[in-house]
Amino acid sequence: MKDASPQTIYLKDYTPFGWQVADVHLTVALSPDATRVRSRIRFEPNPDAPAQRFFLHGEDLRLIRASIDGTEVTPVLTAEGLECDVPEGGFLWESEVEIAPAANTALEGLYMSNGMYCTQCEAEGFRKITYYPDRPDVMSVFTVRIEGDEPVKLSNGNPVAQGEGWAEWHDPWPKPAYLFALVAGELLNHPGSFTTMSGREVELNIYVRPGDEGKCAFGMQALKDSMRWDEEVYGREYDLDIFNIVAVDDFNMGAMENKGLNVFNSSCVLASPETSTDANFERIEAIIAHEYFHNWTGNRITCRDWFQLCLKEGLTVFRDSQFTSDMRSAEVKRISDVIDLRARQFPEDQGPLSHPVRPESFQEINNFYTATVYEKGAEVIGMLRRLVGAEAYAKALDLYFERHDGQACTIEDWLKVFEDSTGRDLTQFKRWYSQSGTPHLKVSDDYADGTYTLTFTQETPPTPGQPEKAPQVLPIAVGLLNPNGDEVVPTTMLEMTEATQSFTFEGLNAKPVPSILRGFSAPVVLMRESTAEEKSFLLAHDTDAFNRWEASRDLARACLSAMITEGAGPDLAWIDALEQVLRDATLDPAFRALMLALPTQAELAQMLHARGVTPDPDAIYAATETLRDAMATRWSALLPELMAEARVDAPFAPDAEQSGKRALGNAVLSLQTRLDGGKAAQAQYDAADNMTMQLSALSCLITAGAEDAALAAFEAQWKDDRLVMDKWFALQVAATAPEKAVARASALTERADFDWKNPNRFRAVMGSLAMNHAGFHAKDGSGYRFLADWLIKLDEKNPQTTARMCSVFQTWKRYDADRQALMKAALERIAARPGLSRDVTEMVTRLLG
Ligand SMILES: [Zn+2]
Repeated sequence: MKDASPQTIYLKDYTPFGWQVADVHLTVALSPDATRVRSRIRFEPNPDAPAQRFFLHGEDLRLIRASIDGTEVTPVLTAEGLECDVPEGGFLWESEVEIAPAANTALEGLYMSNGMYCTQCEAEGFRKITYYPDRPDVMSVFTVRIEGDEPVKLSNGNPVAQGEGWAEWHDPWPKPAYLFALVAGELLNHPGSFTTMSGREVELNIYVRPGDEGKCAFGMQALKDSMRWDEEVYGREYDLDIFNIVAVDDFNMGAMENKGLNVFNSSCVLASPETSTDANFERIEAIIAHEYFHNWTGNRITCRDWFQLCLKEGLTVFRDSQFTSDMRSAEVKRISDVIDLRARQFPEDQGPLSHPVRPESFQEINNFYTATVYEKGAEVIGMLRRLVGAEAYAKALDLYFERHDGQACTIEDWLKVFEDSTGRDLTQFKRWYSQSGTPHLKVSDDYADGTYTLTFTQETPPTPGQPEKAPQVLPIAVGLLNPNGDEVVPTTMLEMTEATQSFTFEGLNAKPVPSILRGFSAPVVLMRESTAEEKSFLLAHDTDAFNRWEASRDLARACLSAMITEGAGPDLAWIDALEQVLRDATLDPAFRALMLALPTQAELAQMLHARGVTPDPDAIYAATETLRDAMATRWSALLPELMAEARVDAPFAPDAEQSGKRALGNAVLSLQTRLDGGKAAQAQYDAADNMTMQLSALSCLITAGAEDAALAAFEAQWKDDRLVMDKWFALQVAATAPEKAVARASALTERADFDWKNPNRFRAVMGSLAMNHAGFHAKDGSGYRFLADWLIKLDEKNPQTTARMCSVFQTWKRYDADRQALMKAALERIAARPGLSRDVTEMVTRLLG
C-alpha cells in the first residue's frame, strides 16, 4: 500500500539527478512468486547537478543485498526508495532484489497475464522492478539477461546471445527506465520484414498467445505502413535490427512504446473481419502507428520530467492523426477528432479536473494521462503548424531531431526550435501550455461599402487555480460565401492575439455569409448568434466539410434545445435540409454517416449547462428519441435508398471506402429499426459475415427491445473469444434503455466470466454504464452507487484503472441538487475507503474540489 499522505510534486522544483548512468546490466531470474533481479549499474557524477544525497527509487521490493565497488553496503530504506553514502567520483552499484509478479494486480512493473510475464514501466513502474533513478532525464544503455524456462524471452534492443534457459538483449540507444520492457512466455510470432530507406533489413514480429496467430496480419501491415510513412513524411528511419510487438490481455492502457518492444493491450492489435469492427481496425492502425512514431518523438527525444508529457504525447497524437488522414479520409478524420475532443477533453477542461496541457503540479502522474495532455496537446501542435505553415513546420521538425536527438527535453526546447527556424516570437503562443480551460470565441460582423468586418472576442472562463486568463493566439480559418452560394474569399488564416480584434475583407459586392473556424482551426467554443437560415445555407453550400457538418450539428443542437426547454417539436426544416445532403451521392458515405449522427446526450447536457440551464438527463433522452423517431418517419422513403447505396458487394476489406459504406448503412439501419421494430436488423444479424454488421444489428435489436435471441446466439458463437465478449458485455449496457441500464450492468457482474480484475472487462461494463447518460444519472442514484461500489472494490487491486474511471463523475456539478448530492455522496464514500490508493485519493480530492 502506498503512502497515505501523498506529496505534491511541482514543475518549478525540478533538479537534475546528481549522477549519470553510464550503463546498466540486469539479470532477471523469473519465478511467479520470487523473481530475482540483479542489477549492475555504473554511476558517474553529473557535472550539471547540485550536490545531493544518493537516492534510488524503489517500491514493493525486497532487498537481498547491495554493494558499492564490490563492498557490501546497508542503505537506508524508505517507502519510496533507498538512500546511501557513496564515494566521490564514479562507482559501480550492484544490488539484488526479489519481487512477486504473480501478486502484482496493479499491472505496473513486472506482472503476469495468463501465465506470461510482462512489464509496464511508464510512468513509474521500473521502481517496482529494481532500485534505480526512475526519472525520464536519466538515460542509459541497457543489457538484459533473462533466465527462465519460457520458450520466448524478449527485451529491448537487439538479441545478442541465448542458450538453454536464458537469453540476452542489448539496446544500444540510451533510454530512460520508463521505456524498459521484458516479456516472457509461451508465445507464437507472426513474422514480417521491412527494408528501410537506407536499405537495412528489419525483422518484425507480432507475438501472441497460441490461438491468436490468425489475428496479426492487419497489425503487421499497419506497422509496415507506419514505418514507410514516417520515412516519407518526417524523414525518420527505424534504428534497430528488430522490432517486436507483444499482445497482452491484462493491460491498463492501450499500448506502450518501449524501445524496440512495444507491448499492446490485445484489444489494440488483434484483428480479424469476423471479430473486429471497422472502428476497431481503424483504431488498431492508429495505435500501432502512434506507438511506432514514438520511436523518434518520445524515445530518441524524450521528456526531461513528467510535466513535459505533452512533448511526446501531443506531438505523437498529432502525427498519428496525420497518418490516419493520409491513409483514409482527412475530412472524416478531422470531424471524428473534434467529436472526440468535445466528448472527452471539453468536459475535463470545464470541470474540477481542468489542468494545463503542461500541468504544474501532481501527486500521481498516472492521473495526468488525460485528454488534455494527449488530444488538446495535439491540437496545440496543429495550431502551431497552421500558424507557421506546412513547410516551416517540416523545417522546424528537422531541426528538432537534429538538435535534440538523444536528449530529454522540455516544451521550451520544442518552442525554441520553431522560434529559431521561423524567426517568430512564441511567447504568447506558449500560454497554450500553461493556461487551462477552453476559450470562448464570440463573433460579430458588419458590412458597409464593400467592406466586411469580423470582430472576435475571446474569453476563457476561470478554472481551478486560474481565476484570470490572458488572451491566447488563435488561428481562425475563415472563408466567405456570396449569397448565391459561391465562395468569394477562400480559406484565410486570421491570427488573433488580442482579447478583441477585428479583421476586414474589402472589395465585396454584397454582404457575404461567413464560414468561421473552418476545419476547427483552434480548440475553442465558437459562440456565434446566427439564424437558422444562415446555418441551413452553410449546410447546403459551404466548401469546408467540417463547417458543413458543424452547421448541421448546430441546427440539431438548436432543435434539441428547443424540444428540451420549450417543449417544441422536431425541426422538420432541418430534417429536410439534411435529406438533400444525404441524397448527394457524390459525398463520401462516411461523411454522410457522420451527418446522420445526433449530438450525444452528454454533449447536450454540456451545452445546456453552458447556457445556464440545468440539464435533465431524462428530458434529454426523451427529446433525442423523439427526434430520431421523427427523422425515421420523415425519411421512410429515403432510408431504403440509402441502404441500397451503402451495400458492399465485394469481399470484406477494412478500408476507408468499405467502412464508410458500412457506417452509412448501419446509421440508416438504426433509424429503420424505429419503423420496423427490428425486422431489418434481425435479417442483417442473421446474414452478417463480419463483426461490424453483426454488432450494429445487435445494437439495433437491443434498442428495439427485441434482442433476447440474438444476444444468446452471439454468446454461443463467441463465448471463447474474450475480446468479442467484451463487446457483448459493453453493448448490452450502453445500448439498453436507461431504466434498465443499472440492472443490466449489475446482472452482468454476477456472471462467472465477469473477470473484473481484467481492465478491458471492467471497462466494458462500468465504462459503458457511464456512456448510458440517462441510465448512469438515474434519478434514484442507483447508477452512482453501483459504480462507486465497484470502484471501491477495484482500487484495492488496480489503483490506476480505478482512478481513471473516477473521472466519470467530473461533470457532477452540472446537474440538479438531488443528483449533485447523490454523486457527492458516492465520491465521499470512495474517499473514505481505508487504505485508499494515492491515485484515487488525488482524483477524488480534485473532483470534490
Ligand atoms: Zn503515446
